Amino acid sequence: MSQDIFVVVEHLRGQVADISYVMLAAAGELSKGIGGNVVAVLLGNKAEGLAGSLAADQVLYLDHSALADFTSDAYQKALTGLISEKQPRAVLFGNTSIGADVASGLSIKLGLPLVSSCRSFSADGKFVSQICGGKIMAEGDLPSPTALVTMSPGGYKPEAGQSAQAPALTKLEVAGLDALRVKLANYIEPEAGDVDISKETLLIAVGRGIQQQDNITLAEDLAQALGGVVCGSRPVIDQGWLATSRLVGKSGKHVKPKVYLALGISGAPEHSEAITDSDIIIAINTDPKAPIFDFAKYGAETDLFDLVEVLTEKVKAAKG
Ligand SMILES: Cc1cc2nc3c(=O)[nH]c(=O)nc-3n(C[C@H](O)[C@H](O)[C@H](O)COP(=O)(O)OP(=O)(O)OC[C@H]3O[C@@H](n4cnc5c(N)ncnc54)[C@H](O)[C@@H]3O)c2cc1C
Repeated sequence: MSQDIFVVVEHLRGQVADISYVMLAAAGELSKGIGGNVVAVLLGNKAEGLAGSLAADQVLYLDHSALADFTSDAYQKALTGLISEKQPRAVLFGNTSIGADVASGLSIKLGLPLVSSCRSFSADGKFVSQICGGKIMAEGDLPSPTALVTMSPGGYKPEAGQSAQAPALTKLEVAGLDALRVKLANYIEPEAGDVDISKETLLIAVGRGIQQQDNITLAEDLAQALGGVVCGSRPVIDQGWLATSRLVGKSGKHVKPKVYLALGISGAPEHSEAITDSDIIIAINTDPKAPIFDFAKYGAETDLFDLVEVLTEKVKAAKG
């Protein structure tokens, strides 16, 4: 058994996912509290190149043709042997569809405790998790001997888990990947033609407070005047008022614009977790107790219908 903290690096189609860097930043904090090294665990095939930017003391690289694309079956089999042999103090996974799938399967296979939806670690090594859909923040000691943890974004900036200096890499042989039950058939790309809101710098987000589809034009006019793009919370997408590609949140996109203007959005955890990397959040809401104000740098407790049209006119006038 060791005090090392393993971070299972999530990557897709040649790109390290931001959540991997968030986890490395978290592991760095945890190692200050409990000691041990930060060890990035990279699974792939001819994917050593992805290790260069990882802020870790060491990279364990598991290379196998069956790991060229993600399947939960292959990842679980590869990690079962590694975790059993090395017995790290903690293994961090993204609280994503990939990470949650692998971590929960391993928890059962290896009989190890799983701490879910962790956002951060305290200075003395306690985990802080969002539970009950984010309504409660729970703090506790990591269960022993080895705790599996799924990490949500929001607690650390991805930049804090990046390094310009490539860490030492050890390539490991992986056995037992010959009789897999699942293999990737092909990727289905999302429909082309729409904007990618995760790359936009100015987002005008509408929530249930917009009341009806016709009112979306208010946000579109403002977005056009400001040079931004409209996106929405889940009720708006579920109603079909905006395309699914515009959904912000747990089930949609994680966004990091310079400005996120939230119109009539309450700030439920499933929405908020995906906006905390925005540089500036501005909230417009009639309810002073709306949780969105906890995240917003600027806020107006007002009716969006009193404000948005006036704001659009002012922007147009200012731009001439
Ligand atoms: C597993 C799971 C996954 C989910 N994934 C997502 C996700 O990816 N994205 C997501 O957004 N949600 C997601 N949800 C839903 C989430 O829990 C919330 O229900 C949703 O985010 C609420 O959307 P909202 O803020 O638009 O609506 P509401 O919570 O109904 O808030 C509307 C807000 O508008 C304000 N308002 C009303 N009228 C006005 C007005 N005239 N002017 C100004 N303010 C006004 C109200 O005060 C209120 O705060 C998920 C839920 C679950 C269980």
